Amino acid sequence: MKRLIPVLLLATALHAQQTAIKARRMFDGRADTLRENVVVVVENGRIVSVGNSVPPNANVIDLGDRTLLPGLIDCHTHIALHAGDYDAQMLRETPEYRAIVATISGRKTLEAGVTTIRDLGNEGSGYADIALRDAVAKGLVDAPRVIAAIRPVTSTGGYRLTGYSPYNPMPPLSSAADGVGEVRREVRKLIADGADVIKIYMESYEKKQPHADMLSGAENYSQEEVNALVEEAHRGGAKVAAHTYSDHAAHMAIDAGADSIEHGLYLKEETFRAMAKKGIVYVPTLMVYEFWRDGVIFGTPDAATKARLTRTCDEHAATFKRALATPVTIAFGSDTFEKPGTNPIELEYMAKYGMRNADVLRAATSTAAALVGVDAGVIEAGKLADLIAVDGDPLTDMKAIEKVTFVMREGKRVK
Ligand SMILES: [Zn+2]
Repeated sequence: MKRLIPVLLLATALHAQQTAIKARRMFDGRADTLRENVVVVVENGRIVSVGNSVPPNANVIDLGDRTLLPGLIDCHTHIALHAGDYDAQMLRETPEYRAIVATISGRKTLEAGVTTIRDLGNEGSGYADIALRDAVAKGLVDAPRVIAAIRPVTSTGGYRLTGYSPYNPMPPLSSAADGVGEVRREVRKLIADGADVIKIYMESYEKKQPHADMLSGAENYSQEEVNALVEEAHRGGAKVAAHTYSDHAAHMAIDAGADSIEHGLYLKEETFRAMAKKGIVYVPTLMVYEFWRDGVIFGTPDAATKARLTRTCDEHAATFKRALATPVTIAFGSDTFEKPGTNPIELEYMAKYGMRNADVLRAATSTAAALVGVDAGVIEAGKLADLIAVDGDPLTDMKAIEKVTFVMREGKRVK
């Protein structure tokens, strides 16, 4: 007996503290229906079992009547941008200041139930995104896990501050790269600097505004350049997110083999079918244009801007409905930056425009996890313990997704 004691002590020491989360209802990230009366056991940041019984000596978190879900994964954010005068952010603030903003916005985003963000560029905030990513990974701050793009790639003249004398040096909002050689070099540099994903601006309105929506514009690149960008990104182990409004720009990204089409305001049904064939994901970002039209962001629009944005929102909603009629994979991306923590409202728009609630929830969990490449988004043994709980049942009422009352990221409870 005496000889057994050290062995038992050793076994206890090796066995980290377990936490058992009891919930009346659970959406597991995949199934169409909720599981009832579950116990999810977490240890060392990962889920070790999903069952019905609480292991002895486990800490118990009883969620009562709430619905447990995987933490949400937002595939399109700009965490170091914030509300207020846009140009002043670029011209008067330092990247260091913006990194502090990102840290605070990250906390708000996490508390809203978003445990991972794919952050697609922050316009003149240097390396704030990877700084936040690394600080979160080291446990210095509580914010979502970050998949970072650093700086989107675009051609000269695309995506920049406009209306200033060309004699003024301007902060780089994106990486200007022209020609196959420069595009390859820029992608290689971004990956070497720590980018997890490459974002490309497929078109831009900064040079000229040829279309009535004032958002879509001339293509930034030749097909050859886009092909080189995607090839180089994939060689470096990074996926490509293609910022695209118009159908013709989407086709260039699809032909090149990009991994996701962001926004895609005016895509045709056959375009979505082509994406489905190649496994390219659609990240619609519906909310941000609705917020803009309604004056929730950027202040109250004048009558002409409001009318223009109303048309854009209507066309975008029609596009989203066209996508739903095809087998294209859709993932959740809010594109929020002025209102950190409003991210889950995007899911309500997806439901409002005809996506089934279970499909919406998959778009924000298992589907998004596959797109951004994180071992989360599903509640099953072995996955990262990114878990949230909401009051009510989002399978029957998507508004419940705004009522997040419990958040755990990688096994650490933060709300
Ligand atoms: Zn965006």
